[in-house]
Amino acid sequence: AKRMGRNRFCYFTKSMQEDALKKMTLTNALRAALSEKQLSLHFQPIIDLQSGLICKAESLLRWHHPTLGTVPPSDFISLAESAGLINDIGTWVANQAIMYRLKWGQKTHDDFQISFNVSPIQFRYENIEFWNHWIKDVKSKNLHKVLILEITESLLLNAEPSVLAQFHRLRDAGIEVAIDDFGTGYSSLAYLNKLDIDFLKIDRAFIRNLENSDNDQVLTEAIVVMAHKLGLHVVAEGVETKEQAAYLSSINCRFVQGYLYSKPLPANEFEHLLDSQK
Ligand code: C2E
Ligand code: CA
Ligand code: CA
Ligand code: CA
Repeated sequence: AKRMGRNRFCYFTKSMQEDALKKMTLTNALRAALSEKQLSLHFQPIIDLQSGLICKAESLLRWHHPTLGTVPPSDFISLAESAGLINDIGTWVANQAIMYRLKWGQKTHDDFQISFNVSPIQFRYENIEFWNHWIKDVKSKNLHKVLILEITESLLLNAEPSVLAQFHRLRDAGIEVAIDDFGTGYSSLAYLNKLDIDFLKIDRAFIRNLENSDNDQVLTEAIVVMAHKLGLHVVAEGVETKEQAAYLSSINCRFVQGYLYSKPLPANEFEHLLDSQK
């Protein structure tokens, strides 16, 4: 490589080098994570406030690397997206959801639902074959009413026709859909009605200060009222205190999820939790 002048060299700071190196190391490690069986799903219960029981669970991806330790999804999902690994990882997640729902079918009531997160990239044209196959599998196992895809509103706003077509194929097959992190994006309320969605998940940003913030109370209640008028169910995310839960209950928000009830648990621990509520 060409030698650069002394003062040009310092533009490329040490921390930028370290960042780039860290990204490269993580990406390479992630490439092997699936085949090395380093990925797993954890499950966080979703509670029905009317019965006080677990009625659903959200699957959340975990990566345990032998030397890097546990890498949080906030550090590796976007890497997986930019490195072209998200389709393989997402395929694995969607199939795991089927597997666990089958496994836990006996332990729970018939309408116990498992949700999983889907990146917008997974809706692109090149993934059509996978979803067709997945839908067939889900239908043949009669699980189409008990699996929920969690997508963000960015997937539906300004989406390419092929993305929307894929969305509609899933809807036509009866697969349930939740809008994740609702209220944080560039919400266009028009799509809520147009697209026939099943659940809104109110982002933790609205819940965090619920007991102290009149504004957050007003916004949360408005979302719940609007959702119900449109025939959607509402899940409040990140519920950490009894006061938050009591407020949510008072405005008829039926479903809640958060550390107050449980953090996301490894599958075997979640299974124990299901057993203990029978
Ligand atoms: P998300 O889908 O909004 O998931 C909720 C996040 O909030 C999870 O973080 C969960 O552990 C955390 N959480 C739950 N209850 C509470 C609470 O009471 N307080 C606080 N402070 N946090 C709470 P996690 O597991 O680190 O996941 C982060 C994000 O990574 C997820 O946000 C989701 O966007 C993404 N993600 C996770 N698994 C997958 C996956 O399988 N595929 C894709 N594409 N994205 C995933
Ligand atoms: Ca989610
Ligand atoms: Ca969320
Ligand atoms: Ca519906």
